[in-house]
Amino acid sequence: MTLPINGLHHVTSLASDARANNGFFTRTLGLRRVKKTVNFDAPDVYHLYYGDAAGTPGSVMTYFPFPGIGKGRAGAGEVGETVFAVPEGSLGFWKERLGAGNVTESARFGETHLHFAGPDGDKFSLVETADGRDGWTGEVDADHALRGFRGATLRLRDGGATGELLRFMGYEAEETQGNLTRFRVPGGNGADIIDVETLPGAPAAQQGGGSVHHIAFSVADRAAQDEVRKAIADTGYQITPPIDRDYFWAVYFRTPGGVLFEVATDAPGFDRDESPAHLGEALKLPRQHEHLRKVLEGHLEPIGD
Ligand code: ZN
Repeated sequence: MTLPINGLHHVTSLASDARANNGFFTRTLGLRRVKKTVNFDAPDVYHLYYGDAAGTPGSVMTYFPFPGIGKGRAGAGEVGETVFAVPEGSLGFWKERLGAGNVTESARFGETHLHFAGPDGDKFSLVETADGRDGWTGEVDADHALRGFRGATLRLRDGGATGELLRFMGYEAEETQGNLTRFRVPGGNGADIIDVETLPGAPAAQQGGGSVHHIAFSVADRAAQDEVRKAIADTGYQITPPIDRDYFWAVYFRTPGGVLFEVATDAPGFDRDESPAHLGEALKLPRQHEHLRKVLEGHLEPIGD
């Protein structure tokens, strides 16, 4: 049985300052803000989404900015690094744009990674790929623009059980190099790599600013999500019922290594409640929180364009 998972859908992290977060992702990295809404479970906090022109699944980095939240502590049981794909020949541009003193390079599975940190110490890297996805060209031209995720690295004390889970989800173990094992979902959406980093002696990660809160995998629609949900539940995982997130439907479950996984539908997408030309501009509230609009508009700090 192969489950209908297409790669990543989105990655959601915690931030300490909404304005700084917005500036870094829209201006420095040149992503498009595709939605400005609130955390549906804590509506006094923004939920900001950044991605390509449409917020295509596999391109969407999202944030819950909790004002003044303390920094997270890196460790085991978390997403260690989120990896974006950039066009071939563009790493030099990014090294200059981010500042040579702010980046480091490393080699992994024959690829060069350019590592850098976000405003809260969030860990990212860029890798040149030949994939055909188009990046958003608001601030950065097409020859250099981020195309979406390439994948992510999971940091785990014992990668075995999570490796089994990834295989069950349709990923194939490709190669092991030192304490890293690369998994890839065949025929994925471009955001199709998960590297599992095994760190037996690492302390447990503590979530805070700059930490990934959860990582979401893409399925086309609710029928595909039901199939995945049933298969995951049948193997013994506790998995939530489908939850309406307005722009996708989500189910969540915690992996053996402690990372929170989500499986999210590609439909209906971010143009559900605003036109493609104006994505991310207005504060959009889910129906259940619309009655709080006046309060929230007074409470949430302006973050700029
Ligand atoms: Zn999510």
